[in-house]
Amino acid sequence: MRIGVLGAGQLGRMLALAGYPLAKTFVFYDMSGSPSAGLGEVIIDRDNQYLDDFISRVDRVTYEFEHLPVDVAERIAKEKPVHPSPRALQVCQNREAEKTLFGELGIPTPEWKIADSAESLQAAAEELGCPVVAKSNTEGYDGKGQAVLRSPEDAAEAWKSIGHPRLIVEKFVEFRREVSIIAVRAEDGELAFYPMAENAHHEGILRYSIAPAPKLEKHVQEDAERYIKALLNELNYVGVLTLELFETAEGLVANEMAPRVHNSGHWTIEGAMTSQFENHIRAVSGHPLGSTGARGVSCMINIIAEHGDIERILELPYAHVHLYNKGERPGRKLGHVTVLADSYEELVWRVKNCAQFLPGCPEFKSTLSEQ
Ligand code: AMP
Repeated sequence: MRIGVLGAGQLGRMLALAGYPLAKTFVFYDMSGSPSAGLGEVIIDRDNQYLDDFISRVDRVTYEFEHLPVDVAERIAKEKPVHPSPRALQVCQNREAEKTLFGELGIPTPEWKIADSAESLQAAAEELGCPVVAKSNTEGYDGKGQAVLRSPEDAAEAWKSIGHPRLIVEKFVEFRREVSIIAVRAEDGELAFYPMAENAHHEGILRYSIAPAPKLEKHVQEDAERYIKALLNELNYVGVLTLELFETAEGLVANEMAPRVHNSGHWTIEGAMTSQFENHIRAVSGHPLGSTGARGVSCMINIIAEHGDIERILELPYAHVHLYNKGERPGRKLGHVTVLADSYEELVWRVKNCAQFLPGCPEFKSTLSEQ
């Protein structure tokens, strides 16, 4: 079976790595350039000249990147199965649509309002009570197009700095930590959930994911599973879906979802019985799903901006290195390392040992360091 992937970055690369043992082959279709996927044919097509050619060469289509025009996905869906559906793509591209859907399905969110001018941003900040986070309603990711308002008077400056005609303004959530849940739905509706991960961000970029999330109460995992299940069923979803959440004293609050495999699930390659990538391929190909159980405890460390001393990390028996074949650049994800252990205590020690060889890596912080 030939799988067409929209986007040709590292997520596509890891999808292909998981798909080859199941005898899948891959064609990547990228509208922006600088592909890093390798592992298959890559079609670079800025103005959709070769879209029909791409469609004719594949049996099924999925994506590894959600910021592509929905009409391209819809055009493909007329001829070949596209998983997840273009509707999922549409919802994820629009924070207002996403938060509205969360609300309809009973998934808690921060209180939010829409602003379409500096004045309405100020009014929203006054009504919600500062601090608030203003985000561009579309085209934002990895903390880009966002500003925190400490007081309503910050509105004019924030409006200017974001430079987007429509913003979602959210009450700032005082979270204990950030977490995510990854789940997968098969063509026949079968569901599987990974253990949640605890995620540490720095400058808007994910740095560390620990899974299963330490000290996670059973009812919190169950709440997250209920929320993501509601989304999967509502969207008649096939494939892997990720839901990013804040854990607060009052329970989980949803931040956003991604209609694809996710950076906070890279630990599953070595740390779970079946990786998120393999399960995504299984789902979009119409196969049964694999076990999502964890093998021990894992921490994924992102390699950002510079590679560091990879040779030293390769010497560590508990570290698994993944490089995406990309050049160094500030803020760019170049690879990741997954550290495995039998206990959290052992994990912390191993992660610190590994991170010392990654110069750009911020200090390891997690709820494991709290007493
Ligand atoms: P996003 O692009 O929505 O994922 O936001 C990027 C990061 O900003 C999140 O991972 C959080 O660290 C932070 N953030 C976003 N929204 C909020 C919020 N309502 N309250 C507190 N922190 C937030």
